[in-house]
Amino acid sequence: MSFAAELQKLIGKGRVRMDDATLEAHSSDEWFASHRPDAVVFAENARMVSHVMRFASRHKVPVTVRGGGVGYVGGCVPVRGGIALSLARMNRILEIHPEDGVATVEAGVVTGDLQAATRRHGWFYPPDPASLKECTIGGNISTNAGGPRCLKYGVTRHYVLGLQVVLPTGEIIQAGGRTHKNKTGFDLVGLFVGSEGLLGVVTQATLRLIPHPPARACLSAGFADERHAAAAVQLIFKKGFLPSAVEIADGFTLDAVRRKFSGTAEKPLSFQDDGPVSILSLPHGQAHLLVETDGQRSSVRAELKALARLLRTAGALSLDTAETEKDCERLWELRREFSRALKSTGLRKLNEDIAVPRSRLVDLFEFAKKLQRRHGIRAACFGHAGDGNIHVNLMVDDHVRRQVIGGEHALNELFRQVLKWKGAITGEHGIGLAKKRWWSMAIGPDARKLHERLKSCLDPAGVLNPGKFVGK
Ligand SMILES: Cc1cc2nc3c(=O)[nH]c(=O)nc-3n(C[C@H](O)[C@H](O)[C@H](O)COP(=O)(O)OP(=O)(O)OC[C@H]3O[C@@H](n4cnc5c(N)ncnc54)[C@H](O)[C@@H]3O)c2cc1C
Repeated sequence: MSFAAELQKLIGKGRVRMDDATLEAHSSDEWFASHRPDAVVFAENARMVSHVMRFASRHKVPVTVRGGGVGYVGGCVPVRGGIALSLARMNRILEIHPEDGVATVEAGVVTGDLQAATRRHGWFYPPDPASLKECTIGGNISTNAGGPRCLKYGVTRHYVLGLQVVLPTGEIIQAGGRTHKNKTGFDLVGLFVGSEGLLGVVTQATLRLIPHPPARACLSAGFADERHAAAAVQLIFKKGFLPSAVEIADGFTLDAVRRKFSGTAEKPLSFQDDGPVSILSLPHGQAHLLVETDGQRSSVRAELKALARLLRTAGALSLDTAETEKDCERLWELRREFSRALKSTGLRKLNEDIAVPRSRLVDLFEFAKKLQRRHGIRAACFGHAGDGNIHVNLMVDDHVRRQVIGGEHALNELFRQVLKWKGAITGEHGIGLAKKRWWSMAIGPDARKLHERLKSCLDPAGVLNPGKFVGK
């Protein structure tokens, strides 16, 4: 009997697919790598996942877990074939309990769906990766996803209270619990959060909820250059503000947006193609800051005024403010266009998500310019200025061989420099396949050995997500 037929016998018909379209749809994510699995299994509960893992461990069949498949580092690409284990059908929100401040969900729940559901109760699940309409809670937990609001609210890890996990050997375990505090044994939740699908399959999560802030306000400011914008970021903190988000963008990114909508800095533009139709004015200058603050209405209003004054003092050339939900979303729309605008340049975007200590922001922008001069490759930088997590996008022309080779050298230089500044080669996307080459350099030999020991302890047959940065 073929292994797919055996699987079908184990977990039932309609849950194992081997047709071309399904295999192809489960062969890649948002990075460049692609490899087809031999079969796709659509699990519907933890018991089925357990059957699959026991079977895989016994027969040494690789299993790669897949959530929404919108990772940026090839993490869910089944590079060794075998089974792509989709949790897409495990998408039930099991409980939203405002009195206890918790929600319990299956791992395949789409992050945006959970946020919308908690909001209807007046509650808040803050982690906000920009992919939230497609990514899953299981994927967010496995990559410890962040987003703009991490500055004030923290990353996914800070909201995970308890996990149900199926180990590679098939046991179903419970880590953590349902209370906001819990110090019973080792922090097993912490072990699985960020483990990129290498240590276990997350099947259920109990998450911390907080009250939704009743008001928010945004400011969108243009600056002469990144140096002025970065100085404004420091001034915001120095004056005692903790905004919910502080996002920065460089001149190349702004120019790409301007070109995409073929307007000018002064003219309001209509977004009429793939995005929702809205009107916004583009910031002046060669750098942009988007600042958001939230809380009680009266304090938000006062902060908005104070922040506007502060940004002007810091040299803002243009300033838009927004107090209503609709107007705030309008300002965010510009931020959400950055990636698409860069892609529309026709160049290949090597999207890195390094993190540097915040005092190094200007050094980072300067270094990106140095890379441009040295390798002839444009670098577009934008991202979460508040926590130093910047997307450095090397824009490579695939038709120019010098640029393709230069891109590789530029990445090497970038990561080395980031580590010299005591930064991290990835702030939120993870290692996956994309950063496998730099993993050893970033982690050091002893910590690497510890990773290997943990992996072989939990996954002695080496079947869960093989071919990635830990394991064979
Ligand atoms: C447009 C865009 C914007 C993005 N913005 C952000 C951002 O702001 N912040 C951010 O952090 N990331 C961002 N990302 C990256 C990505 O969306 C996140 O990494 C997200 O957490 C991936 O979730 P997913 O469900 O798609 O996971 P997948 O891509 O399916 O998988 C990611 C990894 O998690 C593992 N995995 C998935 N589900 C489970 C599970 N249940 N149990 C065990 N392992 C599992 C997979 O094996 C893989 O290693 C963005 C991506 C895109 C395309």
